Amino acid sequence: MSAAPTTDELSIDLEGLLRRLHLPTMRRLLPAYAQQAAAEGWSHRDFLARLVAEEVANRNNTRIQKAARRAFFPSLKTIEEFDFTYQTSLKRQALGPFLDPDFVAQGRNLVLLGPSGTGKTHLCCALGYKAIQHGHSARFVRACDLIDDLAAASKNGRLREATDAYLEPSVLIIDEVGYLHHADSAANVLYGLVDARHQKRRPMLFTTNKPTAKWGDVLHDHQLADAILDRVLERGSVIELRGRSYRTKHHRAATADGAEG
Ligand code: ADP
Ligand code: MG
Repeated sequence: MSAAPTTDELSIDLEGLLRRLHLPTMRRLLPAYAQQAAAEGWSHRDFLARLVAEEVANRNNTRIQKAARRAFFPSLKTIEEFDFTYQTSLKRQALGPFLDPDFVAQGRNLVLLGPSGTGKTHLCCALGYKAIQHGHSARFVRACDLIDDLAAASKNGRLREATDAYLEPSVLIIDEVGYLHHADSAANVLYGLVDARHQKRRPMLFTTNKPTAKWGDVLHDHQLADAILDRVLERGSVIELRGRSYRTKHHRAATADGAEG
């Protein structure tokens, strides 16, 4: 029996085909892998499997990088970088459900409460990044920017579209509720967004330095603040962080406040 024709004999433009199929990693690695396969006697299956695995891994990394950029994290923080021996008021296990691949599907919410520098923003970004690694999207926004944006949109009759932008990401991080003075319409615009996300079971992560009982004052409307918290906490929890600021951990006589707020 004569040997089957090789690819070259068939004159198939494999490179061109890989380009057409948008498989750039396979195309890039093909020559080296073909050489190595021949030298080491890989099976056809192994050869193909390794190339495809590289393509998938690369594609996933690209997706993660893109999603992380679109999340507008103030800086990229991971859970692995968080020092739980410094922040002893929180056990890593308590965050387990939020780090789980099912976190988004379960539509959980979280309020991280505590003074400045206790790691609230770091943790929320880390949870958002983990969700991205699990294939979802995230969006970080400071409460004052979110409320300003929605309040301005509301004045221009565009509240619906503006709210939609914050409805889309799988995980929405609303940072620093109650730090700065929020606009008078804060409760109104925030309620619309929280209610819509709650209906879609889309996770929300909040950081705040004000106990939830004070959110009525912060948002200038006690009834609406209650309605917001009711929805957030139906499938959510409040975790309180304590301790000295990590920002000033090098100063022995550190005051409670760091510069970033
Ligand atoms: P908060 O939002 O509570 O004011 P941040 O999360 O912004 O505090 O933390 C301030 C800085 O300290 C960030 O750079 C953060 O990465 C770091 N940080 C805070 N707590 C920890 C920790 N336990 N382990 C590692 N880094 C921390
Ligand atoms: Mg913060």
